[in-house]
Amino acid sequence: MISSPYFLQKGQRMLTRNTTKAVRTNISAPSAKQQTAAVLKQKAQQIVKAECDQDVNRSEILGKRHYLSTKLKTAVSQAHQTQACPTEETGNIQVKTRRKSIKVEYDSTAGTDPKKILWEPQDWIKQLNNIREMRKNKDAPVDLMGAGKCFDPRAAPPVIRYQVLISLLLSSQTKDEVTAAAMTKLQAHGLSVENIVQTDDKTLGELIYPVGFWKSKVKYMKQCSEILQEQYNGDIPDNVTDLVKLPGIGPKMAHLTMNIAWNTVSGIGVDTHVHRIANRLRWMKRETKTPEETRVGLEDWLPRDLWSEINWLLVGFGQQVCQPVYPRCSDCLNRDICPSANLKKTKLKTPSNANKGR
Ligand code: SF4
Repeated sequence: MISSPYFLQKGQRMLTRNTTKAVRTNISAPSAKQQTAAVLKQKAQQIVKAECDQDVNRSEILGKRHYLSTKLKTAVSQAHQTQACPTEETGNIQVKTRRKSIKVEYDSTAGTDPKKILWEPQDWIKQLNNIREMRKNKDAPVDLMGAGKCFDPRAAPPVIRYQVLISLLLSSQTKDEVTAAAMTKLQAHGLSVENIVQTDDKTLGELIYPVGFWKSKVKYMKQCSEILQEQYNGDIPDNVTDLVKLPGIGPKMAHLTMNIAWNTVSGIGVDTHVHRIANRLRWMKRETKTPEETRVGLEDWLPRDLWSEINWLLVGFGQQVCQPVYPRCSDCLNRDICPSANLKKTKLKTPSNANKGR
């Protein structure tokens, strides 16, 4: 149920997000005009409900967010235009619409019901379009040598998927340039499940050095490859649940693997760039401390059809403009609508590994 102060009469309760908090309105006895306005609003709500019931698919496509609020405003406007309200003083036909902002709060199941309006950040669409404009040249390191570029396109599909998984495994805490160099050496050596299982750790270490945490990654590569050989016939799992069971594979890598290797959007791949920029732009309801928190927060409101694009957009934007320690705010198209623009370096500083890749 949605309610707002705009629709309340004396003594009614405003339902909040979880419906556990309620506040009493402080409205004096309604005048005839107020009573008429309340009737009009009630009618508007009925119109909205009827339209939503008939138009579920469209509301889903529109991404759940603006749909109901837009319908509500339109219906209120139409109701006021087609209904007449006699004024107390003269009895003349006159309509006065209270156009103050309508605050609507939602329950915790938001995101699962397309008819419910979700919280969304202020100006996010403008900010997103500005980032698209800044990224239009596609010349960031992630564009040239990210995980989507590091596999051998001539290889068999299972081998391509394996190479995507390995490039993501190597990319953690490592610059894209270093990951790409290691992938080139691995491919020259023969980057397939069978070949890596048979390669000794020392050779593997020499091939991937100096990627971050290369010793651990040698171990993960060997363990992963053995599991894939034994349980997946040399291919990789086709779902996040099984991917994150592989040694060294976390949620970010799993979602990116699903996207790049299986062409399936399962979630947002949140690395240090996405985590940092989403917080700087206040795309989180409240500041988040970890990429995983950020992923959950973003998926709560960001339309699903943007989940794949957002990683690519923000990673490159973070590499070129909204950098970890010295963001180039003066060159940024978002400088006038970014809450973090031109903040002091110390306040903008984000995780110590942010200078590295993902
Ligand atoms: S204005 Fe500065 S902090 Fe804000 S998005 Fe742009 S570069 Fe980042």
